Amino acid sequence: MLFSYRQRLFCPGPTPLLREVEQRLGDSCYHRQADFIRRWQNCRHKLARLVDSKSLPVLLATSGSGAMEAALVSLTAPRARVLVLNGGKFGARWQKVAQAFDCEVISNTFAWGEAPDLEQLEDLLRGPAAGCKVLCLQACETSTAVYYPVAEIAALVHKHNPECLIIVDAISSLVAHTLYMDTWGIDCVVAASHKGFGLPPGLAYVFLSERAQRSFSSRPRFYLDLQAEQQAQSEGKSRFTPAINTVIALDYVLDLLLDTGTELLQQRHAALARACRAAGAALKLEPFARQHPANSVTALRTPVDAVKLCAQLQQNYRMQFAPGQGEMQAQLLRIAHLGFVDSFDLLTAISAIELALHECQHNFVLGDGVRAALECLSARATGELG
Ligand SMILES: *Cc1c(COP(=O)(O)O)cnc(C)c1O
Repeated sequence: MLFSYRQRLFCPGPTPLLREVEQRLGDSCYHRQADFIRRWQNCRHKLARLVDSKSLPVLLATSGSGAMEAALVSLTAPRARVLVLNGGKFGARWQKVAQAFDCEVISNTFAWGEAPDLEQLEDLLRGPAAGCKVLCLQACETSTAVYYPVAEIAALVHKHNPECLIIVDAISSLVAHTLYMDTWGIDCVVAASHKGFGLPPGLAYVFLSERAQRSFSSRPRFYLDLQAEQQAQSEGKSRFTPAINTVIALDYVLDLLLDTGTELLQQRHAALARACRAAGAALKLEPFARQHPANSVTALRTPVDAVKLCAQLQQNYRMQFAPGQGEMQAQLLRIAHLGFVDSFDLLTAISAIELALHECQHNFVLGDGVRAALECLSARATGELG
């Protein structure tokens, strides 16, 4: 007799909220109040520390895609040549945003489940994409659960086209993967509250290098205007009503994250990802990302229709997972271990996946996935027992 009282989230956004965060989300205030402005500025300073940047980010009341659009529209002129790395749904989104704003898009399209081929990218930078103004990429392509080697890609771009601005969508990678914005020479990073930060959706951050701040376009724009935002926010003013409650909770979350430290956060997420893949192997579920699996989300090929499997997991155990996206919808189960998902949450997720597969007559020994994950996470396996 298996029963569950609580709804549990294992989808790659939104991610679960800590109790302490839920409490703070109840707090509100007037956003012109000195007290709030101080918190808001504290958040900007702490976020800059999180990506190791000298420049303070702007906070926007929008979802992640709004921040993508803000970056694109504020940093490109019409007809600008934009190179997009497209290996999944979110790479395709960069392409759509750039096309919507009349850029000349060059797409480096590669197979879903793969990371960009660096030699092919180098050829592109020397040939058809020579002189491009902007490169747009994901750090983690959430639809395929692949992490792209951002530092190496940036180094290639600097070598072949030092003028090119690099815009990284780190929405599903921040906190799970370290990002050294200034050291790697990234010009713009977009991130959002409801993934690695364990907050509700509706708050996004855009980090802009000094160079990016000198490269604003003169396109018409109003709400998503990073130049106006950067100016106003550096004077402690908000142009519009911020996501007040979420900013208050972010202030708390950033203390937790920075006290833990970005390296340890990355190690923890990597450990969960390893355990998740080990469980998948024990259950005969092949990982989709063979070479560069992300720390934040794991995509496993399913022996049954993944949409039905997710519905079954929700119906029987009140756990929400995500199937694949686009053409991979029915074939992948995506398990997020991002934000405040911890080891015991993951073990719970794996046990439910086992039960659901067991109901589908999938051939494996019940408990093998959980055992594989436990063996992977135990202090003895990780050497923490000395
Ligand atoms: C979730 C996600 C987005 C889109 O975010 P929304 O908040 O749904 O607009 C963009 N890029 C990546 C990599 C994501 O994971």
